[in-house]
Amino acid sequence: MTVSPDGHRASAPGAGDQGLRPGILLDRDGTIIVDHGYVGSVDRVEFIEGAPGAIASFNRAGIPVAVVTNQAGVARGMYGIDDVTQVHKYIAGCLAEHGAHIDLFLFSPYHPAGVVEAFARTSEDRKPKPGMARAAATALSLDLTASWVVGDRPEDLGLAEAIGASAVYLGPGGRGRQGVWPFPSLAAAAPFILERITA
Ligand SMILES: [Mg+2]
Repeated sequence: MTVSPDGHRASAPGAGDQGLRPGILLDRDGTIIVDHGYVGSVDRVEFIEGAPGAIASFNRAGIPVAVVTNQAGVARGMYGIDDVTQVHKYIAGCLAEHGAHIDLFLFSPYHPAGVVEAFARTSEDRKPKPGMARAAATALSLDLTASWVVGDRPEDLGLAEAIGASAVYLGPGGRGRQGVWPFPSLAAAAPFILERITA
């Protein structure tokens, strides 16, 4: 896991009396990169069109961005913690070429049906449970109820519900749910999220 909080908390938009501010919690596979299924090596990383630019737009607005991703492939023995870290370093490098950065990468290696003993269990860190979001809130001084979750799976909507955040849903369905806005891509949703956060 890589932690690099930015140093502009006091001047961030929406910073409240306690210095808490809205942030954006991004799912990884199916949101930033193509969900090829258990992406555990950099050769399988393929960015979704417009995603780096969307993240750069959040960065320019001073809004903290965290990645919160379930990586059950670790529990399933398909790849290791180090492989996930390598993928995230690679993603960070690619984003930098687009003037974009992720403030915090968090991942959950757990799954109750895993075969790797250390990770074969339920966890508060596995979405839709709120562990990763709460860790991001602590690290980045986030007001989760003013924050946004963007993802393509029901567990991302469940996470948003668990922490009282708004949600952008990139998956099928999702219409008509309170606090959930369907969009075709992160790039398509970015102006909408920016307008809501900075209003
Ligand atoms: Mg996903």
